[in-house]
Amino acid sequence: MGTTVEIHLYASTRERAAALFEAAFQEIERVEQALSTYRPTSEMSRINANAARGPVVTDPEVLTLLDEALDYSLRTDGAFDITVGALVNAWGFFRGHGRYPTADELSRALARVGWRNVILDRAARTVQFRKPGIALDLGGIGKGFALDRAALILRRHGVTAALLGAGQSSYFAIGAPPDTDGWRVVVPDPDDPRRSLSTVWLRDRSLSTSGNAQKSFEFDGKRYSHIIDPRTGEPVTGMTQVTVIARTALESDALATALFVLGADRATAVLDHVDDVAALLVTTRGTVDRVVAIAWGGSVGSSLK
Ligand code: ADP
Ligand code: MG
Repeated sequence: MGTTVEIHLYASTRERAAALFEAAFQEIERVEQALSTYRPTSEMSRINANAARGPVVTDPEVLTLLDEALDYSLRTDGAFDITVGALVNAWGFFRGHGRYPTADELSRALARVGWRNVILDRAARTVQFRKPGIALDLGGIGKGFALDRAALILRRHGVTAALLGAGQSSYFAIGAPPDTDGWRVVVPDPDDPRRSLSTVWLRDRSLSTSGNAQKSFEFDGKRYSHIIDPRTGEPVTGMTQVTVIARTALESDALATALFVLGADRATAVLDHVDDVAALLVTTRGTVDRVVAIAWGGSVGSSLK
């Protein structure tokens, strides 16, 4: 998944902790092996290679994950879309730097994008693409899903206090450290990552941040994000960072990406239909940052207001 996973947990003995780490990391490895499109032998690569030719039978876990991902597309008017890969490639992020695609490249990529081109049959447990060229890319939710699964393993082993994190962008907190209200998680100030924008105490909740600090690029004096609006085919501009707190890391991951695309004005309407959710958005116009907090419990830092 191109990221570092860290796990903090409380256990009665060092040996017990070591066994728990082993179980959790094994689960993350298992999920990566199933979902990574960088691994030619993954279930996701098998689906991408075959689903345009006919229904591909897959396992219940992958089917449920795809079902949830498509449901986020429906609920966000297509702002979150796991078929966005062709556009990501067209914008050249796969090379680690941006370049402006030609109009022709863009329209060809747009023709290969759209979550409504993915057909799931729950009874038959199959996934099928409506046309060739569609490919699934779980870059926006894979890390969150992996953390959810690893947290489930830890809970099943009786763990009552743990923090799982992936690349400082997705977290899942089980319970809280002894005598505390939760796990302390810092939302960075996008203008200066050494500073914090907000500090939250996370307990049985997830937190995901989508930000373009490292992955954005500049072209013609404009800053483009690595998150793409699948409806226009254009990288998002004007949004700098979105953090979402939710009940699962899959949910906070998907909503952070979706709100990044939708913008602050549409965010409230989408979150209205989700339980136990909060969001902190940093929008940027020119050089002016604006912070929008929605149901956000933690305080918001002084450097941006
Ligand atoms: P990070 O990798 O910093 O955690 P995100 O969680 O925001 O960033 O996910 C970015 C990834 O999500 C992109 O690299 C791409 O694979 C994918 N992506 C980009 N735009 C969208 C979108 N509109 N919907 C779903 N996934 C997207
Ligand atoms: Mg993310």
